[in-house]
Amino acid sequence: MQQQRYSIFSLVANALSGHRDWRPAWRDIDRPKERYEIVIVGGGGHGLATAYYLAKEHGLTDVAVLEKSWIGSGNAGRNTTIIRSNYLLPGNIPFYEWSMKLWEGLEQDFNYNAMVSQRGVLNLCHSDAQRDAFARRGNAMRLHGVDAELLDREGVRAIAPFLNFDDARFPITGGLLQRRGGTARHDAVVWGYARGADARGVDIVQNCEVTGFLMEGGRVAGVETTKGTIRAAKVGLAVAGNTSRVAAMAGLRLPIESHVLQAFVSEGVKPLIPGVITFGAGHFYISQSDKGGLVFGGDIDGYNSYAQRGNLPVVEDVCEGGMALMPMIGRLRILRSWGGIMDMSMDGSPIIDKTPLDGLYLNAGWCYGGFKATPASGWCFAHLLARNEPHPAAAAYRLDRFATGHLIDEKGQGAQPNLH
Ligand SMILES: Cc1cc2nc3c(=O)[nH]c(=O)nc-3n(C[C@H](O)[C@H](O)[C@H](O)COP(=O)(O)OP(=O)(O)OC[C@H]3O[C@@H](n4cnc5c(N)ncnc54)[C@H](O)[C@@H]3O)c2cc1C
Repeated sequence: MQQQRYSIFSLVANALSGHRDWRPAWRDIDRPKERYEIVIVGGGGHGLATAYYLAKEHGLTDVAVLEKSWIGSGNAGRNTTIIRSNYLLPGNIPFYEWSMKLWEGLEQDFNYNAMVSQRGVLNLCHSDAQRDAFARRGNAMRLHGVDAELLDREGVRAIAPFLNFDDARFPITGGLLQRRGGTARHDAVVWGYARGADARGVDIVQNCEVTGFLMEGGRVAGVETTKGTIRAAKVGLAVAGNTSRVAAMAGLRLPIESHVLQAFVSEGVKPLIPGVITFGAGHFYISQSDKGGLVFGGDIDGYNSYAQRGNLPVVEDVCEGGMALMPMIGRLRILRSWGGIMDMSMDGSPIIDKTPLDGLYLNAGWCYGGFKATPASGWCFAHLLARNEPHPAAAAYRLDRFATGHLIDEKGQGAQPNLH
C-alpha cells in the first residue's frame, strides 16, 4: 500500500474529490509472519516509537509490534498529555531534554499533526523551602541547557490570576516555569508513529496477545501469542503497566509495582488555563484541552492493581486539591474519569536495558511520566535493540541499578511508588 503524504495540497485534492480517496493510515496485519528479526511487545507510544526509529534510524524493517488490544488502548491513550523536561538529576535531564527536542520536530518528522503545543508548564511552590528546591532544580536545568524560569508571586499572578494565592492553607509563594513544556495529543502520537513505522515496512499486529516466551538454549527465541508462535532474534518489551506480568512469563521478577492512576475531564469552557499548572502542596495538576475541557489528575490510587479503573477516595482527593488551588473549579461538571496502569519503578525512574535473558530487552518503569518520554524512549530503545549497547542519553537506566545502588531517585523519596 502506497502511503499518502499529508499536506495542504493533499487536503485540497481530497476536498475536491469529496474526501473519498483518503487511504488507511496503516495496514491492518491480521496474520503475522512466522519469524521477524525483532518483535516489540506492546503497541503503546513506546513500542510504536521504538519500531519507527528502528526502521528510520537503523534501517531495520523486519520488525513486528504485537498489541493485545488496539494500539493506544493502554496508557498512551489515557494520559493527561503533559510534556516537559524539568528534571533535576544528571541521569534524567539529558534524556528528557532529548525527548523534548524530538517533540519539537516530531510533526515534521513523521508528517502527522500531533498537536504539540508548547504552552508552558508551571510548578507552584508554597513555602520558602520549596522555592529553594525549585531554584536548585531550575539551576540544574539551565546548567544542562534546558529553559527554566523561577517566578515570584507576581510572576505567577501574571500567568494565572485565578489561583487562590492568599486565602488557602498553602499560599502560593512562586513557581518554576518551563515555557517549552506543554501538551501533545496522545492518540495522534500513537497514530503518527504507527503510520511512520508501517510506511517503512513494520508489521503492526493488533488483537495479538503475547502469552509466553519461546526459549531455546537458555535464550529467548520468540514469543507465543494468541495468533501462534512468532520467532525472533530479539524481543523488546514495552508493555508499561503489564510489565511485571509479561516479564513473569519469562521467569523474571522486576523491581516494578503496578498501580492505578486516574484522570478527569470537565465539560468544555472558554479558554481559561493558559498552560499546565501543578499544585506543589498536594497532588493535583491541570491543563485545558483544545476542545475546552479541563483535564486534571492527581495521585495514584495507592494499592497494587492491574485494573484500568480507580476508586472514589482518590476522586475526592483530586477534587479537594483542585478546590484548594482554584475554588472556581467547583462550578464545573466532570464529564469523564478513567484509569490506567502505571509501571512504578522503585526509584521513580525508567529502565531501558537488556535483561539477564539473552534476546530479551526491557523498556519499563515509566511511572506516571512516560508520555513525555515517548520519543526519546523509542529512540533509545531502538538504539539498544539495534546495536546491543545503551544510548548515551539512557545509559543510567540500567536494570541492575537496584542491585548496585545507583538509584535515580528524582524526588529523593525512597522506594515508595506513591511519592514519586
Ligand atoms: C491517567 C494517566 C495520566 C498520565 N499523565 C501523563 C502525563 O501527563 N505526562 C506523561 O508524561 N505521562 C503521563 N502518564 C504516563 C504515560 O501515559 C505512560 O507512562 C506511557 O504511556 C507508558 O508507555 P506506553 O505508551 O508504551 O504504554 P501503553 O500505552 O500502556 O502501552 C503498553 C501496551 O502493551 C500492551 N500489552 C500489555 N500486555 C501485553 C501482552 N501480553 N501482549 C501484547 N500487548 C500487551 C497494552 O495493551 C498496551 O497497549 C499518564 C498515565 C495515566 C494512566
